[in-house]
Amino acid sequence: MKKELIVISGPSGVGKKTVVEAVLEKSDQFVLSVSATTRKPRTGEVNGVDYHFLTTQQFREKIKENAFVEWAKVHDQYYGTLIDNLEQAKKRRQHLVLEIDVQGAMAIKKKYGEKALLIFILPPCFEDLIVRLHNRGTELEEEIEKRIETAKLEIQVANEYDYRVINDEVARAAAEIIQIVESSERRKKYEKSS
Ligand code: 5GP
Repeated sequence: MKKELIVISGPSGVGKKTVVEAVLEKSDQFVLSVSATTRKPRTGEVNGVDYHFLTTQQFREKIKENAFVEWAKVHDQYYGTLIDNLEQAKKRRQHLVLEIDVQGAMAIKKKYGEKALLIFILPPCFEDLIVRLHNRGTELEEEIEKRIETAKLEIQVANEYDYRVINDEVARAAAEIIQIVESSERRKKYEKSS
């Protein structure tokens, strides 16, 4: 059975990473695409696990080599999905989760159409997002302001996604995502057979 290509986006601070981790923990049917980036690793982040951390020069070389399915500049840094990730997931017959920004999501939608399932994670309210960004303490004030402005723009694109999931509670949001993916898989299987 063909597996899904799942794109998950959401504003910075919405808790996408935690929700995606909960999805991966709940089901071994899902595998995460490890993106490449030029941003510096945060404390605790591991090269090859959280991201492939590259220099700007290495990233630009990969662009030239057409190694990316999509890439974008987010918060002044490069981020990109490696073609290799898609091929490995296909071989392993798992759903591939791309946790990427809205520019990347739109590029995937253009390229893969119905084959990609786009899910946008929303905060219960915008104020909640601002509090979370301040509380996680991983960015400087100037960086937080930048992320809040980007978040406002990103939320406007949420309607372009196939589904919108509210992260009111991590386990609930993760269960909803698994349900969306499984029912999409069943529907596609049904459409093929009828
Ligand atoms: P962070 O620096 O907080 O890990 O990620 C910043 C933003 O970059 C997030 O919105 C994240 O979804 C996005 N991002 C991570 N990897 C990729 C990627 O491969 N492609 C694109 N287009 N965005 C990415």
